[in-house]
Parts: sequence; C-alpha cells; structure tokens
Amino acid sequence: MSTKRSLLLLPGDGIGPEVMRQVRRVIDWYARKRGIEFQVEEGLVGGCSYDAHGTPLTDETMARALAVDAVLLAAVGGPKWDNLGFDKRPEAGLLRLRKEMELFANLRPAKVFDALVDASTLKPDVVRGLDIMIVRELTGGIYFGEPRGISDLPNGERRGINTQVYDTHEIHRVARVAFELARKRSNKVCSSEKGNVMESGLLWRQEVIALHKAEYQDVELSHMLADAAAMQLVRNPKQFDVIVTDNLFGDILSDEASMLTGSIGMLPSASLGATDADGKRKALYEPVHGSAPDIAGRDLANPIAMFLSFAMALRWSFDLQAEADILEQAVENVLSTGLRTGDIMQPGMARVSTSVMADSILREMDKLATA
Ligand code: NAD
Repeated sequence: MSTKRSLLLLPGDGIGPEVMRQVRRVIDWYARKRGIEFQVEEGLVGGCSYDAHGTPLTDETMARALAVDAVLLAAVGGPKWDNLGFDKRPEAGLLRLRKEMELFANLRPAKVFDALVDASTLKPDVVRGLDIMIVRELTGGIYFGEPRGISDLPNGERRGINTQVYDTHEIHRVARVAFELARKRSNKVCSSEKGNVMESGLLWRQEVIALHKAEYQDVELSHMLADAAAMQLVRNPKQFDVIVTDNLFGDILSDEASMLTGSIGMLPSASLGATDADGKRKALYEPVHGSAPDIAGRDLANPIAMFLSFAMALRWSFDLQAEADILEQAVENVLSTGLRTGDIMQPGMARVSTSVMADSILREMDKLATA
C-alpha cells in the first residue's frame, strides 16, 4: 500500500477542532484496520491563525495546502474576530485557499438518510431516498466579472453594476466534472441556466451540449432553466442526479438542495481544481456548517458533516470507493439505531455527545470491515 497519500488538516475555530479530532480517529482507523496510511499534517486557519500569526492564513500554510493531495477544513470564524478588517477576518483565510488553489468546481451533495427522513420540512415521500449532487461553478460568473462597482450618475442617482461573464473553457471544465461524477452515480446530468434571457446562459447551454456530443454521449443530458430548477427541487427532487450550474444560480440552488435534508450538521462539500499532469487535482473538503460558537467546546457538535467530508476526500482525491462506502454506511447504520446529536434530535431517540457519536460510528466501521 502506498504511504504517499498526503492530507492537510485545518481544524479552524469554534467546533472545528472538536470535529476534526474525531476525523483524526477515523484516519487512524484506516491505517490500523485497512492498511491505508495517510501522511497527515495540521495547520491553522481563520481566527486561531490570526491570534497566533496576525493573519488568517500564513504563506507557509498556503504553500502546504498547494502541496498536499487534499485539504480537510472544519470551520472558521467567531464573535471574537467579527470586528477585524476584511483582510484579517477568518473568512479571508478560506477565500485565499479557494482562490490560490483555483477551486472552480464546488460539489454539494444532498442526501437524505432514511433515519432522518422526518427532519426535512418536505413530505417524507418527496425526499425519502434522495441522493443528488449540485456542481456549482465557483471562480467565475457574476461574482467576479468586470466591470463591477457602484458609480455616481450625472442625474444624481447611483448605479450598481456586476457582470455575468463565462468563457468556453470555464464552462467546459466544470461541465466535465459533472459528467465524470455522473458516470460514477446514476449517469444523468441536468444543466441549468437562464438561456432564455441571458446570452451567458445561452452560451453555457451551447457549450455543455458541444462537450456532451464530443466526449460524454453515454451520459444522459437534460437542460432546465434555473427558475424551473428551483421549483422542481422542492416539487420532485428525486428526478435529478447531478445538476451543473453557474456560480450565482449554484449558490442559490445548492443551499435550497441542502435544506431538503433538514440538517446542517450532516452536510459535506468538496471544492475541486484542475487536474495536473500527474492526474491529481487540488481539492478542499469541508462541512457546509460554520464554527457554531454557540455550542463550541462542549462536546455537542455533530461530527457527521466532517466525517462525510472525509468520505468525499476518500472518493474523489484518493479513489478509495469501498473505503468511502464503509464510512458512509457506518453513519447510516448508527443513525438507524436511534443515536442523535442535539441538532438532529427527534422524539424517542437517544441524545449523545460528539465523542459518543464518533465512538459509535467507529465501532460500526469495525463491524462492517469484518462482515
Ligand atoms: P453555523 O453553521 O456555525 O451555525 C448555525 C447553527 O447551526 C447554530 O445554532 C449551530 O449551533 C448549529 N450547528 C452548525 N453546525 C453544527 C454541528 N456540526 N453540530 C451541531 N450544530 C451545528 O452558522 P452561523 O452561526 O451563521 O456562523 C457562526 C460562525 O461560523 C460565524 O463566524 C460565521 O462567519 C462562520 N461560518 C463559517 C463557515 C465556514 O467556515 N465555511 C460557514 C458558515 C459560517
């Protein structure tokens, strides 16, 4: 077995260190029980880095993030750092990581575990068995396009401008991620834009069609206007497998999709960059939730979003599909025994701490590995 798989852990602030501590146990489990070794290093990001070094991310940590196979980040931020200038704030560390690693594809799965089907605000029949993936373009589009700004007009009014702009290569690289993902899932991609009213949307659709024709004809491709997709996500979300969309619509649709599952403590994400000459791609894995300062330091946080983020790393950075399956299945099995952290607590279930939830998942992994 190779010992060259490298991981940089960035626990960050608030509940970050608590949930990352539990992931370390999972990483150790793979070494002990499966002979899968990771070379693990740890660094500071966010408020803790500001406290130690006066910056939310040092150049050294940035360089480590660029050098490793995958970065696993928990969460940054907290009231202690809320009044710092924008470039010193904890979030600035996260934005620098995303920018310098050129992470252009954001993967947000929305999966409903059977045991948590009642946590959704939608009817159980609508969400039971739901397993979809939103692929959002992350480095282009209207959040970055030029010209942008606020200007004064001669008539005394003001004008705010943002520009939606996409070039062919930006559309192709994110669509490629979606097609590749679909091949490992149910083989369906729905591309979403507003090509009826936006030229950038029309180009998006044309380029997705061109790429599909050239390289991915085996994948089923459909198109849906973004407003219709927003409706269909709550009406009949199970019709989708992979949805690929731009930065702005992806921001909205991915948040909508994640709420179908009902709990923020359960949601992982991945952000991927380009594949280099060795076939490796830069990758950052992180839970969707923040640093939850309201419960930090009390062994109350749900570690599952962090565990599922590591499962995504196993899948997408290390191609360890069966190993990712074990971790995801262990989570599912433990939930079905009725154990719950506070955020997903339901009547009649047993409320447990962060560490007891992690203990139980590790025990379940033992069982699955010997089954
Ligand atoms: P949050 O996600 O931290 O918390 C929202 C609510 O969900 C809180 O009640 C919290 O206790 C609960 N929660 C979140 N994760 C949980 C978990 N794993 N287990 C149990 N409960 C959980 O969002 P917020 O309160 O808006 O922000 C808190 C801080 O986190 C802020 O400083 C914000 O800037 C930062 N933040 C960071 C990220 C990130 O690092 N990617 C994302 C969002 C917010």
